[in-house]
Amino acid sequence: MELKALEKETIINTYNRQPETTLLLERGAGVYVWDDAGKRYLDFVSGLAVNNLGHCHPQIVEAICRQARQLMHTSNLYYTEPQIRLAEQLVRHSCAEKVFFCNSGAEANEAAIKLARKYGKVKKGQAAFEIVTAKRSFHGRTLAAVTATGQTKYHQGFEPMVAGFRYAEFNNLQSFKDAVTEQTCAILVEPVQGEGGVYPATPEFLQGLRQLCDEEQLLLIFDEVQCGMGRTGKLFAYQHYNVEPDIFTLAKALGGGLPIGVMAAKGEAAVILQPGEHASTFGGNPVVCAAANTAVSILADADFLKQAAELGAYFQQKLRAINNPNIVEVRGLGLMVGMEIKGDAARAVPLCQDKGLLVNCIGGKTLRFLPPLIVTKADIDTAVSILEEVLSAIA
Ligand SMILES: *Cc1c(COP(=O)(O)O)cnc(C)c1O
Repeated sequence: MELKALEKETIINTYNRQPETTLLLERGAGVYVWDDAGKRYLDFVSGLAVNNLGHCHPQIVEAICRQARQLMHTSNLYYTEPQIRLAEQLVRHSCAEKVFFCNSGAEANEAAIKLARKYGKVKKGQAAFEIVTAKRSFHGRTLAAVTATGQTKYHQGFEPMVAGFRYAEFNNLQSFKDAVTEQTCAILVEPVQGEGGVYPATPEFLQGLRQLCDEEQLLLIFDEVQCGMGRTGKLFAYQHYNVEPDIFTLAKALGGGLPIGVMAAKGEAAVILQPGEHASTFGGNPVVCAAANTAVSILADADFLKQAAELGAYFQQKLRAINNPNIVEVRGLGLMVGMEIKGDAARAVPLCQDKGLLVNCIGGKTLRFLPPLIVTKADIDTAVSILEEVLSAIA
């Protein structure tokens, strides 16, 4: 049977893929992917902020193959070197002192939520289990992570949600202050909101949250699943803000294309969880950690990050220079960029695709651009000129 028909028959319909317009991708290299007809696309989706080093980066492929031949899986009953090396790298490059390994962003946030609840009980008493998160946020699809997600459209049909979450306005410190009570144990936000529409936090907001958490004995948790790993031009987005979280979560680009999640913690938060209280069968798997070790050693390089920051500034400046009355706003940090346009932004996606550019639309009104960090200025010029044509075609 034809593959797209077979998909429809055998895969639960959660992704809204359309046989006529959704590509079947076969191959990737660097900033490009190829479909089953051999057509090449400049990939500004990057597997949703996963392929920060582009597709099939040779050093990552090599690390995976080497480790796969040596030892693929053991369980966390035993030590393995790639896992410990990765923990050391993450701790060395961040404010964290210790990490926990899992397999996805949602799982990393689940770990943070469990840790925060335990912290609340230990520090503030049985009732201190509430976590304040932001409206328009996105923290994943498992039950607690989706409850933390401050968008009702993701809750509908799955109620009752997990108890103990409150929502406040992003970039509005007073709104967070108002949501904190004696029952609060933590605040969880994305330093740059991703799925919600690409909204960077203001420095005053994150610095204010830090102070609020210090005053109220709350854990400050940053979800860096999308904005981390060099995406914004620093290894972690919080490093733009002169604020350190007690916990941050990572996933997406950390594994260089393989699935991984991390919860990283410092201070008291790093020693709250005890043996038996949390675990993951695949968490810290040697093959995935070998890939991630290579990814981190490339992404954390100061020159690499400087270049990503410059490319982000160049891209944003070129987008802002497009003269089209339909553009409402260009927002972003580094190479995490959103362009809000009037009307149905999703119309632009297939038109860009026809011209060989992959982009993604979020919330119906914002085009999101997440190019690989290895993109060149020439690639950016190509993408911007395609976009310019498409925007004038739909004006
Ligand atoms: C993608 C994303 C998640 C969820 O990650 P999964 O690996 O899909 O579970 C969580 N938080 C943010 C900010 C994300 O962008």
